[in-house]
Amino acid sequence: MEQKGISADRVCDASGISVGHLECSICHDLLRKPIACQSCETPFCSVCIYRWLIANPNNCPNQCETFVERKCPPFIAKLLSQLHIACYYQSKGCPQIISYEALDKHESECDYQPQQCPGCRLQILKKDFHNHTKNCASVGLTCQDCCLVYKRVDTATKHTDNICLSKQLRQLRGESKQNKQELHKLTNLWDKMCKLSESYNVFNADKKTIVVSDPEFAKVTIKFDDLPSVSAECKNIPSIYRGLAWNKISYMDKSYAVKTCPKSGYVTSFDSCGSVHIAYLKDEASISIESTTETFTLISLDACAAWKNDLELTITGRRNLALIDTHTVTLFVNRPHHILLEWDNIDKIIFKSSGGTTDPDSPTSANDTQVVINQLTIGLDL
Ligand SMILES: [Zn+2]
Ligand SMILES: [Zn+2]
Ligand SMILES: [Zn+2]
Ligand SMILES: [Zn+2]
Ligand SMILES: [Zn+2]
Repeated sequence: MEQKGISADRVCDASGISVGHLECSICHDLLRKPIACQSCETPFCSVCIYRWLIANPNNCPNQCETFVERKCPPFIAKLLSQLHIACYYQSKGCPQIISYEALDKHESECDYQPQQCPGCRLQILKKDFHNHTKNCASVGLTCQDCCLVYKRVDTATKHTDNICLSKQLRQLRGESKQNKQELHKLTNLWDKMCKLSESYNVFNADKKTIVVSDPEFAKVTIKFDDLPSVSAECKNIPSIYRGLAWNKISYMDKSYAVKTCPKSGYVTSFDSCGSVHIAYLKDEASISIESTTETFTLISLDACAAWKNDLELTITGRRNLALIDTHTVTLFVNRPHHILLEWDNIDKIIFKSSGGTTDPDSPTSANDTQVVINQLTIGLDL
């Protein structure tokens, strides 16, 4: 609560009023925004009495029992309002004489009030402040181009064109380094996405067979036709094929089957599925998901006995080596069997074939437990 006291000598036109009666008994200046004690009716500047009451709660400076605030007596207020007073900043050059009522407003706006320059810390009159700071050598400047903060006085040494340009260059280099790092990150991310989409595309190579009803789930039918062509032999399915690891499963070309084993489950399978390739296994084989963190759904497969009727095929689904489900079917040579399983969340399928009786029409050498698989449908979470 800074108060600019009105000393009696600032009163310009007392016109017979005894200014002495209008003094505050605390600050001895002219009463300013006065209030009074209800008991003794003594007026005080409101700032003075409030300050006093903080130090002396409820006590009137005139020893009244308790201080109760009341309005300044009207005749005092009336006398005050007749006064004309020189501006507080008269000594700084303000020529204004203001009525008592208008004094506060004028002094808060007076052009002669000093303000501190943020550069040189000198007190500068409000009316000169703008001009001063515009030219003050100590005022800090910020370059819009290089962002350097420097004192105006140092322009010639600390912010030359050279300095400004080289600073901008350094910043650009820094930015470009940052951009390069960002770019590097983005490239890595892009690579990862490409790899993901590659493995996704591998599963999706045969788009015609995909039914995507759940957008998070892809149903993939593997018909082996996209394996490298083998005309005169049988080959192992590559250890990684369509995102799955194939263990001890081979595939065969149709022409080879027709030529070498016309009366077998191979040919029946080809006839029923219309593919160029079929897969087959003997005794024990497995398919697992390539990524150890993923699982898939074994939806269905079509299997056929290659040589022996009443051949038992046991299919087991596992996750993390634990048994999820198992199913045994009896297979025949003359017709493939559609096996619907819909096993969720497995990471490995194990096939075991055993038993069976040799078809009297089959070549006597064909006494094996081969099982033909002409299609495998799996579901993948995307
Ligand atoms: Zn006072
Ligand atoms: Zn009193
Ligand atoms: Zn003034
Ligand atoms: Zn200055
Ligand atoms: Zn600059």
